Amino acid sequence: MIAVRDVHKHFGGFRAVDGATLEIRDGSITGLIGPNGAGKSTLFNVIAGVLKPTSGTVTMDGEDITGLPPHELFHKGLLRTFQIAHEFSSMTVRENLMMVPSGQTGETLWNTWFHRRRIAEEERALLKKADEVLEFLTIDHLKDEKAGNLSGGQKKLLELGRTMMVDAKVVFLDEVGAGVNRTLLNTIGDAIVRLNKERGYTFCLIEHDMDFIARLCDPVIVMAEGKVLAQGSADHIMENEQVIEAYLGT
Ligand code: ADP
Ligand code: MG
Repeated sequence: MIAVRDVHKHFGGFRAVDGATLEIRDGSITGLIGPNGAGKSTLFNVIAGVLKPTSGTVTMDGEDITGLPPHELFHKGLLRTFQIAHEFSSMTVRENLMMVPSGQTGETLWNTWFHRRRIAEEERALLKKADEVLEFLTIDHLKDEKAGNLSGGQKKLLELGRTMMVDAKVVFLDEVGAGVNRTLLNTIGDAIVRLNKERGYTFCLIEHDMDFIARLCDPVIVMAEGKVLAQGSADHIMENEQVIEAYLGT
């Protein structure tokens, strides 16, 4: 589905990503691991259109998407989780979900005047969808809570929920489990597995928690010093000498 070919991203003379080549198969939950500073987040940012690569290509279903801006990738169904921005913290959980879809009729003044009925229908549909998402993620009891009052883990679930408001195909998650307690981490893991199995989402996730990676991801890709060091099943990766060395070396 996503193919990364010989991608470099240099910052001045520093090679954060130094010739990375990898594939994310349709329908997979692919894990991306590696020591701090390996270039994982930089590579995500290149794939998601946040950074332009110094060289190399990214394709999605054979189409060259290298350097496309995030909103164009969004329309193709390629999403990085939306951080809950500062200005959204004062909105409720449900309102945060309803904000996501673009191209709503109510956005222009002309439409506001002439299509009131359609706007009302769209809002009802959005509300219904938001409530379905909240139920799916088992956070319906939080729907009227201000997003700013959620715990770190609950915010991560809301971020995942925002990807469900549009027709996502492939979702990139950067350290979704960081600082999240075990119970919520399991809830997040379950949601990822269900989205994968029931809705056909493809995932690529960066994570440090190896238990989490081993439970969810196949294959696992290991990066070190801007390059892909190894890939395979979690078990296979954890026995790889080069991988062990890369981790011990930092
Ligand atoms: P990881 O996510 O694997 O921990 P990153 O992709 O965040 O690694 O960073 C890889 C390397 O690139 C790090 O050494 C980091 O300091 C450097 N780096 C990341 N972003 C920038 C930037 N905007 N300018 C300069 N150096 C950067
Ligand atoms: Mg990172």
